Amino acid sequence: MAQSYNRAVRWTRGRFARWAAVVFSVGLIIVFRVAQNTQPEVKEDDRLTIVEVIDGDTVRLRGGDKLRLANIDTPEKGSPLHDEATAFLEKMVLGRKARIEFADKRRDKYGRLLGFIYVDSVSVSEAILENGLAYLLLFKKSELDRPRIKRFLTAQRRAMDNKVGLFSIPHEPESYYIVRHGRFRLHRPGCRSVADLKAGSYRIFQTREEAIYEGYNPCRTCRP
Ligand SMILES: [Zn+2]
Repeated sequence: MAQSYNRAVRWTRGRFARWAAVVFSVGLIIVFRVAQNTQPEVKEDDRLTIVEVIDGDTVRLRGGDKLRLANIDTPEKGSPLHDEATAFLEKMVLGRKARIEFADKRRDKYGRLLGFIYVDSVSVSEAILENGLAYLLLFKKSELDRPRIKRFLTAQRRAMDNKVGLFSIPHEPESYYIVRHGRFRLHRPGCRSVADLKAGSYRIFQTREEAIYEGYNPCRTCRP
């Protein structure tokens, strides 16, 4: 009699525990979903965890969004220093909580978020530039007035002065280089992007370094 009573108690307790577990799990899922839904997609200054480094200037955030570092351009796959730039970014950010500051334009045409990453208040882009693992990437002259961009240019100049990374690689020299007015790409004279230019619509540089020092970015087609 006592035995069957104990069995019944055990059975009831077991069933209750199972039910409690199910109810608790469902509750957790609901709370999680509600929290997910009430959160805006990504908040300014959120501390986000970087779960994957895709290349030297692109990461994946927890939650799935890709983020492209704004205003810098690291070597493409197959180019010198691509692997080094990727490894450098991995070392700096992978698995770490990062503060993200978004660029004025929040997403690019590929749907990637655009912004700047800070880990322990260190500017990741500045570190990349200082190590010569990216070129500064600008689109308009007014960007040079921004304190952040001034710091980026200073970091790049340090890499140039120290001849590190991209600035240690020799380039086939040209007798001059071309930048179209209002643009930030530096071209070799033979590049199709600068064919048939009107007089007065471009500027000439004697060396690539002079132009890059001012913030111009080497064209990806003619690769000066
Ligand atoms: Zn070009």
